[in-house]
Amino acid sequence: MAAEEKAVPVAGTRDVVILGSGCSGLTAAIYTARANLKPLVLEGHEPGGQLSITTLVENFPGWPDGVQGPELIENMRKQASKFGAEFEMGHLVSADLSKRPIELNLGNKIIHTRTLIISSGASARWLGLPSEQALIGHGVSSCATCDGFFFSGHEIAVVGGGDSAMEEALFLTRFATKVYLIHRSESFRASKIMLERAMAHEKIQMLTNTIVEEILGVEEKSVRGIVIRNTKTGQTSEVPLSGFFLGIGHTPNAKMFHGQMDLDEDGYIVTKDQVICTHNGSPIPGVYAAGDVQDRRYRQAITAAGTGCMAALEVEKYLEEHGR
Ligand code: NDP
Repeated sequence: MAAEEKAVPVAGTRDVVILGSGCSGLTAAIYTARANLKPLVLEGHEPGGQLSITTLVENFPGWPDGVQGPELIENMRKQASKFGAEFEMGHLVSADLSKRPIELNLGNKIIHTRTLIISSGASARWLGLPSEQALIGHGVSSCATCDGFFFSGHEIAVVGGGDSAMEEALFLTRFATKVYLIHRSESFRASKIMLERAMAHEKIQMLTNTIVEEILGVEEKSVRGIVIRNTKTGQTSEVPLSGFFLGIGHTPNAKMFHGQMDLDEDGYIVTKDQVICTHNGSPIPGVYAAGDVQDRRYRQAITAAGTGCMAALEVEKYLEEHGR
């Protein structure tokens, strides 16, 4: 049996540590690196964040022909490195936000930092089917705004019964010829108005008490259909389609801060002035949040980059006010 690893303190105190290497974290890294603060970026479980599993991004300003998500992220990473940002694999096990400097436990080491930018993102929930994982970016997506356009003239499905699923389904009717809205029960979490709108739409067909058992097309590397099962009758059937969207919610990656900062009922970080973290309503000095971990509403690459920039500017201001 392997001996339990002991966390060894790293000598010195960082000016800024950035948690997460998605769009918001990398933007914060570019800004703080250019301010000569030598940020340390902890890459986290999903280096590059959600963009790294997207294909073409067509709505990021400055790319008239679109850009592949992984390329956009790689470019941001290079840009941050060029100005002196440092990167480290690994993720946060626990943090003590009450101490100054702030103490971050990575399991095998403890890092001390004057300021912290939490940009650990939110992970889309997936059904957990192997075929789903294999086809992400090849017809399977968790972002209608990002990928809907690619399904012009095709039939698609959206899974979920909340507002996200309704919103995605309604948005996707702009492109798709037909949208199956698949929900595992017959009671919906969605608000009445959104549900009614979806139900009334001529292109949307509701399939309730229905679960998805398989996504077809792994060998072809593009979705060609799904196998569904009606949980009341037990009957299975195959539905031919080209796009499969998940609308079953997101999980913000902020659990490790539970009890040390204000989180909303779904675990998103509650911020003051957009990026300042609070505890019982009062700002936590030197601790900021950016990107999807604090944004349940917009969740776009450009808004994540925007709040990453804002958090970085707050860090600069804070350090300056504290004599750095
Ligand atoms: P919700 O938690 O509200 O809904 C998730 C839905 O996904 C539920 O219907 C749930 O089914 C279903 N689901 C969860 N896991 C699975 C699974 N493994 N297999 C099949 N189905 C599953 O999440 P949303 O993202 O929709 O909404 C989150 C919050 O954000 C809400 O407060 C919502 O109002 C808000 N929001 C608001 C919008 C707006 O106002 N425009 C747009 C989007 C979100 P079940 O009900 O059976 O558990």
